[in-house]
Amino acid sequence: SKTPVIAEIGQWLNDSESFALLSHVRPDGDAIGSQIALGFALMAAGKTVRLINEDGLPENLAFMAGSEKIERPSGEPVEVDVVIALDTATQPRLGERTLAAVANCRRWINIDHHKSNPGYGDLNLIDSSSPATGQILYSLIRELGLPMPAESRDAIYVAVSTDTGSWQYRGTTAETYEMAADLVRGGTEVGPLNALIYDNHPMRRVELMRALLNTLEVSSAGRLAHWKLDQATVSRLGVKPEDSEGLIDIIRAIQGVIVAVFFEELPDGKIRVSMRSKDPRVDACKVCMLFGGGGHSLAAGIRMSGPLADAQSRVIEAIEAELATLND
Ligand code: 5GP
Ligand code: MN
Ligand code: MN
Repeated sequence: SKTPVIAEIGQWLNDSESFALLSHVRPDGDAIGSQIALGFALMAAGKTVRLINEDGLPENLAFMAGSEKIERPSGEPVEVDVVIALDTATQPRLGERTLAAVANCRRWINIDHHKSNPGYGDLNLIDSSSPATGQILYSLIRELGLPMPAESRDAIYVAVSTDTGSWQYRGTTAETYEMAADLVRGGTEVGPLNALIYDNHPMRRVELMRALLNTLEVSSAGRLAHWKLDQATVSRLGVKPEDSEGLIDIIRAIQGVIVAVFFEELPDGKIRVSMRSKDPRVDACKVCMLFGGGGHSLAAGIRMSGPLADAQSRVIEAIEAELATLND
């Protein structure tokens, strides 16, 4: 039986003709994958769909079938019946130009798995027990009996694979593996697809890894590991935003480490903080929310004011306070 909000979303999808599907700035596999997944399902059902992202399609996801549909906001207003925000915890994370483009649209659907999502849509499907927005869309497509074209099928695979660290993080459930089995049965070729996701990194990314390792610091009796990236290094190596995707897993994986943090200086002087926790008693989302960020309990982030060294000391102090509660 359908939950009331899924039935309502089904009604809106059915009754509307045109849609703009949005996702967050610096999009990851779940953001772009969710746009392609729902977008191609709606197009197969005869709808008009635009897939808009503030920062456009990152190079590392350009292999995805259907990714050529991803466009940046052009500056022109986007006139559609319904806007659907995907994988985006708060409206500002959609980006200023994107928000301006859809400002005239009065009907918003918000589909996400971030527990910090306040429910900014008219209809909100937020399931923080789902490891990826892609998995929520899989259930939605199946429950509503929408088409599942190959682009949607493979995009869901990529979305969930990337958000679960290749099907390994806590939160990956029996439902997740059942979904994967269904996608593979439907035609997803895991060998070639995984090679494109995981064995196809530019050399630049390895050079970035070398630079990050040179800044690695481990403190709090081995429980906190962090590294940083400044703009000088970004310029020297020609680092692109997507090059650092997933690198934090290297320091998260250190034996004894409970919290891993990546501090990155952005071109505008703001600092992007990426945080991971391995212990459910240490809530990364809660720590990030102290500084205006958010996310999930074990993976969260912030965009905060700099300079780099100040952001670093403020955030590290907050983490150390959390870690200290483990001793009680
Ligand atoms: P990542 O470290 O992979 O960029 O992000 C980890 C998680 O934290 C993601 O689910 C992401 O949506 C969330 N997150 C990252 N940065 C921010 C931020 O600046 N604000 C909020 N609200 N969430 C963030
Ligand atoms: Mn995401
Ligand atoms: Mn996600």
